Amino acid sequence: MSQHPTDFDALLAAAREIATKVAAVHAADVDAKGRFPTETINALKAAKLMSAPIPKSLGGQGLSMKQLCTLCATISGACGSSGMVLAMHYIQVACIAFHTADSAFFKQYLHEIAETQPLLASITSEVGTFGDTRSSICAVQREGDRFVLNKQATTGSYCAHADAILVTCRRDNDAPKSDQALVLVRMSDCTLTQTTTWDTMGMRGTCSPGFDLVSSGPVEQILPVPYADIAAQTMVPYSHILWASLWWGIAADALGKAGSYVRGEARKNPGTVPHTATRLAEASVQLQAMKHNWQAVAQDFDETVAQPDGMEKLLGISWGLKMNNLKIGTSDAAPQIVHRALQIVGIMGYKNDSPYALSRHYRDVLSASLMISNDRVAGKSASMLLVYKDV
Ligand SMILES: Cc1cc2nc3c(=O)[nH]c(=O)nc-3n(C[C@H](O)[C@H](O)[C@H](O)COP(=O)(O)OP(=O)(O)OC[C@H]3O[C@@H](n4cnc5c(N)ncnc54)[C@H](O)[C@@H]3O)c2cc1C
Repeated sequence: MSQHPTDFDALLAAAREIATKVAAVHAADVDAKGRFPTETINALKAAKLMSAPIPKSLGGQGLSMKQLCTLCATISGACGSSGMVLAMHYIQVACIAFHTADSAFFKQYLHEIAETQPLLASITSEVGTFGDTRSSICAVQREGDRFVLNKQATTGSYCAHADAILVTCRRDNDAPKSDQALVLVRMSDCTLTQTTTWDTMGMRGTCSPGFDLVSSGPVEQILPVPYADIAAQTMVPYSHILWASLWWGIAADALGKAGSYVRGEARKNPGTVPHTATRLAEASVQLQAMKHNWQAVAQDFDETVAQPDGMEKLLGISWGLKMNNLKIGTSDAAPQIVHRALQIVGIMGYKNDSPYALSRHYRDVLSASLMISNDRVAGKSASMLLVYKDV
């Protein structure tokens, strides 16, 4: 699976240990208080897991999409919010790693990430763009060798805990809404004023309220390629594939709890198969299908980008539809699987103080279809299918 199996095995072992010994231990408190999972993110930093997507030549571990997915799924099985923070950080790191080839500044910054293991956040949302990440109202303004960028974000996960934020905006004051750039803003170069709260059903530890951002910095921190390409080739594939894997991780943990509940019931009546075992068998079909979905697309992505014209292929309709289908399919499946787990476990899953409690899992996966609205994603697929016949 891996070009560097020993490296990946060591990273996965570290992630598993963090999942069981840190993330799982603090998950209930993170959820109850809606607080940032500091212990888990600090442990991930200590294990050097924050630089995993960066190619080895630039100081990172050069993990493939499939390997990154496995790490995110491992962490999210213990704490969904922690898995989501890790995934969102990886998405930002990948955007820098794969779209700044000619930039001396970003080359050095990638080495800095590998060395100091910072946490990178993202602000694509904006007051007035209504969830359309491919349009911006704010614009980056260049003044000599400095930029100024101010943005009103509706949702900014863990921005108050991050070391830097990647911010979408119009390329300049004259650019249309869809002509966007991506800008790296260091926390030391900005002020963030929280404008809304994040008292949500789930994913509470992502700490994602709205913010007013006021920032400036050197122009070299503006990524050198249009955001349209970054979005299609990296932001969207990394988001949808990593999210799919982490939603699967949450669903798998929920069904794992259901499985252990069923086995407990079976032990009480040796020689009989509890009727819930049949429900478990049915749910495991859906869980396996979901796993194969993200694994197949992750492998497809890894094989595609390895081809000489791979990055071009990622700009095509075929790949766009594949991403949308993965997003809609897995975000629909995850809550269904957790729901099935709850039906199997019954009241012991409904109770918050039970070892089989499923409330957090359920609430966390309900965010999946909203995090880029499935209706919006389906609408884009609908337009593509009008011109794409090869279904
Ligand atoms: C856990 C979590 C973490 C997040 N973290 C961040 C972050 O770090 N940074 C960030 O920038 N954003 C973040 N977001 C926000 C995310 O990127 C989206 O902007 C947000 O989820 C969309 O909000 P919305 O439902 O208001 O948007 P919309 O897409 O406008 O959806 C609103 C409603 O309009 C309907 N709708 C929209 N478009 C269509 C269409 N074409 N056809 C039919 N119906 C349509 C939908 O059904 C939906 O009910 C996060 C969201 C979540 C849930």
